[in-house]
Order: sequence, then C-alpha cells, then structure tokens
Amino acid sequence: MSLGRRGFLGSIGAAGLAPYATPDAARKREDAHGHARFMEEAIAEGRKKPRYPFGAVIVSGGDVVARGVNDSGHDPVYHGEIVAIDDYVRRNGNRGWSEATLYTTAEPCPMCISACAWAGIERVVWGTSIEGLRRTGLDQIDLSATEVAEAASSFYSPQLLLGGVLAGVTDAMFRDAQALREGRGSS
Ligand SMILES: [Zn+2]
Repeated sequence: MSLGRRGFLGSIGAAGLAPYATPDAARKREDAHGHARFMEEAIAEGRKKPRYPFGAVIVSGGDVVARGVNDSGHDPVYHGEIVAIDDYVRRNGNRGWSEATLYTTAEPCPMCISACAWAGIERVVWGTSIEGLRRTGLDQIDLSATEVAEAASSFYSPQLLLGGVLAGVTDAMFRDAQALREGRGSS
C-alpha cells in the first residue's frame, strides 16, 4: 500500500478554494499551508519540557483542538502524542478522528503511532525522525511510524504520514535538550 506524501502533494492544487467552506476545504487548506504553522504549535508545546521536548497538537477544521507535552516522569506512557489524544477526548469526546491531524515534534514511537491507528487519526505529521532522536542520546524502539502503520493496514489506512516538517528547528531543539540533560546547556 502507498503511505506517505500523496495526500499532501495531491492537495496543493486545490488550496485557497473556499477555505473553511467545508471540512474537506478546511483540510486542504491545512495540508497546503498549515504544516509549518501547526508544527510551530507542537514545538511551542515541546518547549515546555526543555529536556524532553516532545510536544504535540491535534488540529481539526483548521484549528488546534488539543495539546500535549511529554509527561513520562509522571506516567511512563504519557508521551506527548498520548497526552494530546487524552486532551482531545476530554475536550471533544471520542469522535471526529477522521477529521483530525496530529502534529508532533518527533516521529511517533510504536506506542504512539499505534494509538493513532486505534483512534483512526487520518493524518500524522512530525519533525525529527526516530534516527535523529537516537543521535541525541534518546533510547528508541527500532520500528518506524510507517512500518507500524503498514502493519496495521487491515484496519488503518492513514491519508498522510509526513516527516521532516520544520526538522531543522526540531532537530536543534532535541540537540539542546541533550545538552541540558548532560549538563552542558543553559536555562
Ligand atoms: Zn511515543
């Protein structure tokens, strides 16, 4: 099956036509113009945890409707994406996932992309790759988000799995986090 950039690339031509007139138009506007903007929102969440800056937001209808930042010191499964999914359910109920896009500062780990699959989140966008995280000294399970999604393809066929969005910014943020953890950073 084909996962990846087709949803993003396929939408560019329709951008700007009647934005927000329909959920579909709103989604096309997000796809064509919003990835960097919404990744900046995820980065803002990540900056709340300078040593582990895993931030996530969930966008629906062109608006940020849920937010989360890593809280694994409190609960080991509270990765940024899980916290954002919990926040979404609290605010919006367990519905509307097919209209949702999750933006996260780093490629979802197998737990988090599995949570996206169980929820049915159609679009997942991230900055730093799992390999990039590993280069900053963070332990990672060696399965890509795309591999996990493909393994779930009997029930999960996301429209978009897109990495590398604002990765220059997120990679620098994770390098700064490593420096902080190793006592080399400021703030
Ligand atoms: Zn995770």
